[in-house]
Amino acid sequence: MAYKALYRTYRPQKFSEVIGQDHIVRTLQNSLASGKISHAYLFSGPRGTGKTTVARIFAKALNCAAPETNEPCGECLSCREIAEGNSPDVVEIDAASNNGVDEIRDIREKVKFLPSGSKYKIYIIDEVHMLTQGAFNALLKTLEEPPKHVIFILATTEPHKVLPTILSRCQRFDFKSLSVREIAELIRKVAREEKFSISEEAVIAIAEGAEGGMRDALSYLDQAASFADDEITIDDVNSVTGNLNYDKLIELATYFEEKNINQALHAIDELLIMGKEVNKVVGALLQFYRDALLYKTIDTSMFSKYIYEKEEFKVLAEKIDAKKIFYYVDVLSDVQTKIKFSTTPQIYLEVAVIKMINEVADSDYAGRIKALEEKIQNLRDIENNAVGSKINILESKLAKITGELSRLELPELAARIEALEKEFKELRNLGKDDKRGEAPKPAADVMDQLQKLSEKVEAFEGKMKQESEKTAKPQRKISRKRISEGQLSFFSDNFFNQEKNTETEEAPTVDEPSEDDIGIIKLSDFEEAAEEHQETAKKMPAENVRFVANEEIRETENSQLVRRLNPVQPAVEERPIIPEKKSEPVPEPKTSGEDPLRGIYDEEYNSYSVSVLERILHSSRTPEARDGKGRIINIWKNLTRNCSSDLLSTAQILQDGQIVAVGNKEFVLIYPTASLCNQVMRPKFKRKALPLLYQALGEAYNYMALPENIWFDKRTEYINQYNIGIKFPKLTPFDDPRLSADETDTMSPQERMASEAIRILGEEIVKIE
Ligand SMILES: [Zn+2]
Repeated sequence: MAYKALYRTYRPQKFSEVIGQDHIVRTLQNSLASGKISHAYLFSGPRGTGKTTVARIFAKALNCAAPETNEPCGECLSCREIAEGNSPDVVEIDAASNNGVDEIRDIREKVKFLPSGSKYKIYIIDEVHMLTQGAFNALLKTLEEPPKHVIFILATTEPHKVLPTILSRCQRFDFKSLSVREIAELIRKVAREEKFSISEEAVIAIAEGAEGGMRDALSYLDQAASFADDEITIDDVNSVTGNLNYDKLIELATYFEEKNINQALHAIDELLIMGKEVNKVVGALLQFYRDALLYKTIDTSMFSKYIYEKEEFKVLAEKIDAKKIFYYVDVLSDVQTKIKFSTTPQIYLEVAVIKMINEVADSDYAGRIKALEEKIQNLRDIENNAVGSKINILESKLAKITGELSRLELPELAARIEALEKEFKELRNLGKDDKRGEAPKPAADVMDQLQKLSEKVEAFEGKMKQESEKTAKPQRKISRKRISEGQLSFFSDNFFNQEKNTETEEAPTVDEPSEDDIGIIKLSDFEEAAEEHQETAKKMPAENVRFVANEEIRETENSQLVRRLNPVQPAVEERPIIPEKKSEPVPEPKTSGEDPLRGIYDEEYNSYSVSVLERILHSSRTPEARDGKGRIINIWKNLTRNCSSDLLSTAQILQDGQIVAVGNKEFVLIYPTASLCNQVMRPKFKRKALPLLYQALGEAYNYMALPENIWFDKRTEYINQYNIGIKFPKLTPFDDPRLSADETDTMSPQERMASEAIRILGEEIVKIE
């Protein structure tokens, strides 16, 4: 048996089977009952709403041999012939294909003849609006004077295209689109009878996709059923109808709201790859925003549209501003028009999406203000957090300090207070016991003691308070600037001034430290130590001159406390500040045959060793070193003038450096860059530089070159430690990767080539600038 399409199988054969056109059915049945039959009927309405179906049922009923209560019997010959499309008296003409004037002329010829055995000769002309002007006119002639046995039933989806003169001669029936509910009911019924398994979502999707047409609904069901594996799902339906899934639409609309152009375009691309047509996508979006607008403005619980049931839709629709929806609809309608004539509709859609997202971003001032407000609030929160965390840090520091204080000093204090309280109690009891007469005066010495004790307690409390206040301020750290102007000038930058007054030994200015100041060691302490050392040095033979580390710097109570509070806790090493090898006798320039420079090319100078710097800094604090510094700086100015021509460039490079600290036969030179330092630190350079220095200074000196910034850092490190009472500060190692005095590593390609040339040809031949 040949497959019969569902819409044919389930096409209504009786008025009672017609769905959704009750008003038409009732009127037609009434006219059948009353016998008041018109000669021309116009059935208008959307496709698939049952116009031709009703026309056939009407025709059957008109010609039925045995009609039963205004219904065709369906059994008689006429009924059967009409149902099969074989009736000679019921002629169906599809004007869409037979639109010529000739067809209508043919009708005009034939209407003259009586029906063969039936009561009426019935012409059903479908899509009547498709007739040409000529055919219309021909039809009009027939309609003006129709024979009594002839009935015209004209059907059209576009009644406005039908000539008014024809319309005025017809009894008109407007078929309405079927509701989703009506179609869904039928789909469920058909699915039941056909034993299809179908999800409710799929039923709704078919009903909605059919757009009010029963025929489309049934053919969708038909196709989806043949498409589906087991149960008919929404995806099966969507792939048949070409419609978009609501989930997909919600996803797309969400991207629009998030202003996520990338994702929106990607989603659209996916839809098109899946085979959805651009116009379907645009149509679906329009529909979607229309639904959203309806949802926002009216009660949609009456609507049977499935999208109104979706939670994600409701949430999204609530969020989208109505003005925005109007804008979207404008843009989408525009696209809908444009893509009809475009060969590249996708581009229009993509541009529209960008436009929708961007222009809204530009015009949505309220949204932008809101976003800005949120940003400001965020910034405020961050700021509050920052302040909060600062306070937290300060608080924890304070807690640590007071903890330390209490651990260190308060037990003693508490004991003192306890003792005081005990004394008070005793005194009070003394008064109580003596009830008879005047209270005895406490002994004068006890009162004195009491007074002294409370003064001490007060003083200590004040000191503690002062300390906690100082510690609570993070800026309390001694800055580099302050140091460079500050207390310790023995290796500060202003050595050029010193060259004039090295004789006077002016006491360096101290930043007015109070007696109780913690954190700044009194310069006088250091001066004392230096003087002591000087005296010791005088008493000792020259070769045994040592600067002994544990030479006592007088320690105050405060510096002791600071040391205990200081987390650095450096081990104060007891080691000679001047190494023995430094105490070799001062050589006279070019006197003996022995090389005075022997031993000065010490390996430790070939690398950036922090212990060398420490040693220079330690010994730079002695008055002798200060004298030496003044002398060297004087000579330094004339370094190039007094040297031999082959050492001129070496002298020039040395002179470019600045002497910042002089120790015992060694000093620190600073340069602006690490590469300059590396150059003068290399053994190759030193082989020329050290003899030059020996010549100029009259003594064998070595040096360390440092970049300015590193020098300042190290110096600060040193002073900070010294200021809190560490007599011989230990510095952290040099960690700048650019510092390297290694010959091979730092050679530039040119330098390498040059040294290679010298190796092969000899220094006399190769002269390199
Ligand atoms: Zn019949």
